Amino acid sequence: MAKRDYYEVLGVSKSASPEEIKKAYRKLALKYHPDKNPDDKETEEKFKEAAEAYDVLSSPEKKQRYDQFGHAGMGGAGNFGGAGMSMEDIFSQFGDLFGGGGGFFGGFGGGQQRQQVNRGSNLRLKVELTLEEIAKGVEKKLKVKKYTACNSCHGNGEKNGNSHTTCSECNGTGQVTRIQNTLLGRMQTTSSCPVCNGQGKVIKERCPDCNGEGIVRGEEVISVKIPAGVYEGLQLSVSGKGNAARRGGINGDLLVLIKEKEHPDLMRDGNDLLYNLFISIPDAILGASAEIPTLDGKVKVSIEKGTQSGKILRLRKKGLPNIEGYGVGDLLIKVNVFIPKDISSEEEKIMEKLEKSPNFDTAHVEREKGFFQKVKSFFSE
Ligand SMILES: [Zn+2]
Ligand SMILES: [Zn+2]
Repeated sequence: MAKRDYYEVLGVSKSASPEEIKKAYRKLALKYHPDKNPDDKETEEKFKEAAEAYDVLSSPEKKQRYDQFGHAGMGGAGNFGGAGMSMEDIFSQFGDLFGGGGGFFGGFGGGQQRQQVNRGSNLRLKVELTLEEIAKGVEKKLKVKKYTACNSCHGNGEKNGNSHTTCSECNGTGQVTRIQNTLLGRMQTTSSCPVCNGQGKVIKERCPDCNGEGIVRGEEVISVKIPAGVYEGLQLSVSGKGNAARRGGINGDLLVLIKEKEHPDLMRDGNDLLYNLFISIPDAILGASAEIPTLDGKVKVSIEKGTQSGKILRLRKKGLPNIEGYGVGDLLIKVNVFIPKDISSEEEKIMEKLEKSPNFDTAHVEREKGFFQKVKSFFSE
């Protein structure tokens, strides 16, 4: 299916101002909102189509590219390009249009809106950590591309930061009151002023650097303190470090998703760490010491005389700390006796000799109960 022209989707002309584009989108979004049209695929598509058109036409940068190249200019990464935009994306991206705490849903229905506060969208970022970093906690400096407040207008979108008039529709209150005659009598309803979108003022001359939006594309290095004990999939939220809002509202949040780097020797199991140790047959029989890698250097452990393959040794508190501060996990060592495949004829003779020794006879081995259970629970992969 051919994509519809974005201006046509929103029903605005090519020379429409940002205000007009925003107003047109707002109208369509409310009309096709999934809350009003549950389980209706067709209106959902229209809702998405409008959001996509607004995403492009509300960004000076994307709009310029679209005006120049049409849909062909919109194919690259970082654009929605049609297919990639989920309902969640739409809500988190444009929630600020509907006022209050990113709450798309909260923005209407109540009817009692005060002056509208814009909110920037949240930013999501992945951070990959080593187990060593997770053990101690770490401070990461993250370079983030985001919308920041425009310097020229201090984020209010007005030329030189001061070029507006009080909205004549609402006299600067941001609200309009209507009186309707109904069967029940005269009803008074208050809603956000449609002329100024609840801002109470109208911009006279737009700031040329941000085209009146109050925000520009920028970059910030954000320092994020990551506590000890975090785990794969955990999301940390850094308040106010997301995108700046249009025209001086509240910043969105920065959401940091934790990824765990694979450790060369150790495996994580909750707050415990697991290590596979291999020892030789003579060491298992005669006893020995072995070096175990831990997250803070190597530790020597002694292997007792007559250690069985499969034995589990425990280094207390050498695991990871609980993220809420409840104790520290252990490092569990599974002992494996290494059986060589290639041996010399001399070694073969020694083995044959041992085979005949009653000490090496397995007929009288005590079968430990629960042995299989233990092996199963460790290194079960
Ligand atoms: Zn500006
Ligand atoms: Zn107004």
